Amino acid sequence: MSVAAYSVPDRVVIRDVGPRDGLQGESPVVPRERARLVLALAEAGVRRVEAVSLVSPKAVPSMAGAEEVLAEIGRPPGLTITALVPNLKGAQLALGAGVDEITVTVAVSPTYNERNVRMTIDESVSAIGAICELAASERVPVDAVVSCAFGSPYEGDVASEEVRDLVRRLKDAGAEAITLADTTGMATPRILADVLAAVGTDVGLHMHETRGTGLLNCFRAMEIGVSRFDTSVGGLGGSPFAEGSAGNVSTEDLVALLDDLGVETGIDLGRLLSASALAERLVGHSLPSRVAYAGARLGRR
Ligand code: ZN
Repeated sequence: MSVAAYSVPDRVVIRDVGPRDGLQGESPVVPRERARLVLALAEAGVRRVEAVSLVSPKAVPSMAGAEEVLAEIGRPPGLTITALVPNLKGAQLALGAGVDEITVTVAVSPTYNERNVRMTIDESVSAIGAICELAASERVPVDAVVSCAFGSPYEGDVASEEVRDLVRRLKDAGAEAITLADTTGMATPRILADVLAAVGTDVGLHMHETRGTGLLNCFRAMEIGVSRFDTSVGGLGGSPFAEGSAGNVSTEDLVALLDDLGVETGIDLGRLLSASALAERLVGHSLPSRVAYAGARLGRR
């Protein structure tokens, strides 16, 4: 008897944020090696990669050399290259380097936003508006990533209406896409369902494994109808502003689950595991991905 007691999308778009979100918290990896990781992901069939962040190298030494990374990557066919930018100057640099998509962040938590970018939420939204205007002139879409969308390490629970209102303001400011980020791993399937009920399912999700609910939340989100996810090769990453915040949901863990569910991603798990092994070599320590650790499960023989 076969019981499909769930319904999930036929296909899911995965954006690997390992080369940026993941490597940002690590000791600096040279631009050529960071580009190699992006290319390894592309070879595995990952079609969207957050490759760089155009931040001041003084503020974030691990992200120095973004233009070199982008030049080294070149233009692999079918790969959408995303750059995180903190301000208008970063957006100018990213557009000059020919990226396909820009990500910006603002937290729904006022304290987290202050600590992360030293701006009020209002100031961030207005800065994002200026970035969107510039990006629109070059026809480059901006994805606004809402941090702490499922809870704040400072203020605790966040009302889903607050998330909905911030999302509306970001769309009004010109953001073409919205991603909800569980920056410090506070989401549960219940909270996630509440927020999605308020915001809708036309969002990307960026979940963290801090409390062991990351993959579970991705599954729940798919059941509700979400089909865009940010994950990180090997589970690289964490938030430098929140103690104990573990890495992103690992790309290979999600891909392994999606393969089993018959959800198309275009990603080859075997090649992805090679990219994950490369990521481990680059950072010089083991990464949290369970599938990378245990290996892919054997299918029917
Ligand atoms: Zn993250």
